[in-house]
Amino acid sequence: MQPKAQLLGLPSYEPGKPIEEVKKELGLTKIIKLASNENPFGSSPKVTEAIKDAASQTAIYPDGYARTLRQAVAKTYHVKEDQLIFGNGSDEVIQFLCRTFLEKGTNTVTAHPTFSQYKLNATIEGASIREVPLKDGVHDLDAMLEAIDENTKIVWVCNPNNPTGTYVNKEAFEKFLNQVPPHVIVVSDEAYYEYVTADDYPETIPMLERYKQLIILRTFSKAYGLAALRVGFGVANKELISYLQPVRPPFNNVSFGQIAAATALSDQGFIKECVEKNNAGMKQLELFCDRHRLTYYPSETNFLLIELGRSGDEVFKALLKEGFIVRSGNPLGFSTAIRITIGKKEDNEALFQALERVLFQTPLTTQPS
Ligand SMILES: *Cc1c(COP(=O)(O)O)cnc(C)c1O
Repeated sequence: MQPKAQLLGLPSYEPGKPIEEVKKELGLTKIIKLASNENPFGSSPKVTEAIKDAASQTAIYPDGYARTLRQAVAKTYHVKEDQLIFGNGSDEVIQFLCRTFLEKGTNTVTAHPTFSQYKLNATIEGASIREVPLKDGVHDLDAMLEAIDENTKIVWVCNPNNPTGTYVNKEAFEKFLNQVPPHVIVVSDEAYYEYVTADDYPETIPMLERYKQLIILRTFSKAYGLAALRVGFGVANKELISYLQPVRPPFNNVSFGQIAAATALSDQGFIKECVEKNNAGMKQLELFCDRHRLTYYPSETNFLLIELGRSGDEVFKALLKEGFIVRSGNPLGFSTAIRITIGKKEDNEALFQALERVLFQTPLTTQPS
């Protein structure tokens, strides 16, 4: 057996251990997971009802065109149906982009550190990856421009960026788009779009009229709370979308996912509530960090990357024993940090106590002046 040369040495994705298993191993009765940027408030109650209603429809293939969902998304974002492609999570749209445009002899430009799937999928296609270090935690778009050459096919802007939570503003992004050569696809991965509150965050969908090479990725996994059902999508010009369609498996989105996503989209009240609670939780967490003089990147998402000045892996392990699953910064490119997903108010508070025990042994009783 001889797999493709570029696959040798590639690690397989290491998922976090299932909560039930961790409980058993450590003898814990309760575990709070603040690791994968999932919505701690679940999804709209309407979603559960819609799935229940559809529960008996298991023998029929899903609608490969995702008509109901497609119409709902097109209407919500004021785009045409042929400007959309749906993926089994936006992860799969990243895969479509790489399969469509990348091969040996081509290259792709990303920030570093950023979301790992761009590099992984590009590597599988045999393309070379040009990683441009973040500047103060933010994409260095000027340096990314400089990294582009005639063999560059795709440049990735993770906005806001995972794992830093930082964002590229409207002015910087438009200036960048105006300079990217027309043969290069620009991906704006907006997995945390719903959580962003910054006034100067770019609204990219209206930009599609002017930039034929732009594709925007959104997902139902984060604020919409549907990570289990794997629905994400790309929005772009219809020509770009038409190039991606042949690589999409015909029934890539299951019926329940389609139904759930269309229903979730119709309940914007739920999203608004979740975003407000997230903002409050973010303030709580920032205040905690400020009190303890821990530094962090300003985040426009539902997570915060906190610099601890000591091994993120060790703090991760210590917090696990306390019953909290967070994400060590180590595999994310920040070895002395942890990434924490904003949870429910009471869970955040419990985490702070555990963090105080882990970081300072005994809880601080007085605040540093
Ligand atoms: C979570 C995430 C995604 C992928 O989410 P899916 O569940 O595959 O839709 C994509 N990009 C970033 C930056 C993410 O954090």
